[in-house]
Amino acid sequence: MKAVCEYYYPDAVAMSTLQHNVYDKIRKEGGDGDHTIWATSLCSDEITNSFHYFTQKMAGPGPFILGGITGLPFAGVTGMKAFLSHVPTGGKAMIVYGPHIGVTQEGELGKVRRKNRDGHSTCCGSITAALDSIRVHASGVQDDPLDYQQSRVIEHLNAHREDILAADHPVKVATDRAFEAIEQKLERILDQALPDFAGIQVVLVGGIEINTDWDQEDYFDLRTYRWIES
Ligand SMILES: [Zn+2]
Repeated sequence: MKAVCEYYYPDAVAMSTLQHNVYDKIRKEGGDGDHTIWATSLCSDEITNSFHYFTQKMAGPGPFILGGITGLPFAGVTGMKAFLSHVPTGGKAMIVYGPHIGVTQEGELGKVRRKNRDGHSTCCGSITAALDSIRVHASGVQDDPLDYQQSRVIEHLNAHREDILAADHPVKVATDRAFEAIEQKLERILDQALPDFAGIQVVLVGGIEINTDWDQEDYFDLRTYRWIES
């Protein structure tokens, strides 16, 4: 699996390595687990729950969930303000974010083998469905109140329709564009929310989560690690 992941994502590291590296870095930079609360903006897919070491080390019973399908931060400014109001006194905050992509043992992108399920299933299902939509509808789709998150995903990817559909691996390029959309939205949300929380430092940990067969370790291609402060 390692070779397959590294073929597509040469800088990706195993999820356990990523978490240990990030945690050690945060500690060297003045943070500690008991006083650092964390949030995620990851896809709703259960397969994205690979951050067991963070769950063990960081404050709180688990992360504050900012994300919806694809990983876009649908909790918005209100959700971000709620999260920031939970930061331990004198402590810090970490936000882990990004889209995810499956890869099979045979090297097929956008698919994954799940526990006790025959064959492969799509991963990320939301990005794959959005790709199907932009292939058919050049002008995007109507907003559907019963599927509003997916409408936003399609809107973001449709803005890069030509590049995505012309790529050798459309799902890989769509995942890259999704990462940029998630990061830009988070930055805009933080621009609005953070000024209300003077002195709080937030570390952004963003990248692409690479899901492998259910009995193999997942990988993470880290693209952003930086602190911001109000
Ligand atoms: Zn997904």
